[in-house]
Amino acid sequence: MPHAITRPADRILVALDTTDPDFAVSLARGLVGHVGGVKLGKEFFTACGPDGVRRVAGAGLPIFLDLKFHDIPNTVAGAMKAAVPLAPFMINVHASGGRAMMEAAHAAAAEAAKAKGVTRPLLLAVTVLTSLSEEDLIEIGIDAETKEQVVRLARLAKESGMDGVVCSAHEIKVIRSVCGPDFTLVVPGIRPGWSVKGDQKRVVTPRDALSLGADYLVIGRPITQAPDPVEACKRIAAELG
Ligand code: C5P
Repeated sequence: MPHAITRPADRILVALDTTDPDFAVSLARGLVGHVGGVKLGKEFFTACGPDGVRRVAGAGLPIFLDLKFHDIPNTVAGAMKAAVPLAPFMINVHASGGRAMMEAAHAAAAEAAKAKGVTRPLLLAVTVLTSLSEEDLIEIGIDAETKEQVVRLARLAKESGMDGVVCSAHEIKVIRSVCGPDFTLVVPGIRPGWSVKGDQKRVVTPRDALSLGADYLVIGRPITQAPDPVEACKRIAAELG
């Protein structure tokens, strides 16, 4: 299994937030053997499309396709069927799309994986975007505390066939207690003690995220902007180990 966690470095997913496919490919090539995979999101996909994803995948690392699908069930199912042949090991949707949307995503991913003879990607849900404050939630009609809404959506995601969620380190414990040990928790907002925080406000170190119960850590700039990205990965893996 390409995404089995057999050593600390396998937990590191490097966010390649760029519109430059050459940069993404060369970073990915350099990181082979040092991380568990790379994350390609809307920025990369909008600029470089499926061909860009195939090029990065050609480097040999598992791909987390962070496209956060959120639409009517039929459309999300279609998007999932279009994405699965790219053979990502993880792909995500917004839990706020609801039960029917997530169930359709799951069914479509399973069907497409079978048809293409590829492993079904792990399906993750995004609960509440960490950029939203409680005032923002009220403004969009959600009169619940952030944590309450996160737990509600994580539970719904699990019931709807999702394998896990993307969550902040501060939500790991409560989601783990509600959704159990087999629910995959993927955590961004990670900063090693030696790196700059940038625009991330509530950060935790890789080691703290792991001891809170994270399965995978999404780390971007501390690796991609490091003078030596491989060295940065080695330091993080050593910290995790
Ligand atoms: O460079 P940095 O480590 O901050 O990158 C983190 C990655 O995780 C980015 O791709 C960002 O979009 C993503 N992310 C995040 N916070 C969330 C969800 C996703 O930083 N709550």
